[in-house]
Amino acid sequence: MPCIFCEIAAGNAPAEIHYEDEDIIALNDHNPAANHHILIITKRHVKNIAEFKKEDLELVKKMKDVGTRLITERLGKDESPVTPDKYL
Ligand SMILES: [Zn+2]
Repeated sequence: MPCIFCEIAAGNAPAEIHYEDEDIIALNDHNPAANHHILIITKRHVKNIAEFKKEDLELVKKMKDVGTRLITERLGKDESPVTPDKYL
């Protein structure tokens, strides 16, 4: 069964996208657990956070920075509740 995030990254599954670049996509969670539940996913298939390697450090930093910027724009605060998720 194909990974839903890879299907979204390929444009084969619908998503409300807030940000996209060559590496990542920020989208609304399909089943939000909060008012502003945004997922930051990699375009490259990554099963879970344990699969990230040391070389992915800049990618992970970008994911956090994009998430922080998006949620800060929505909440209008300097400090935002960005939480790395086990489904990275
Ligand atoms: Zn995938």
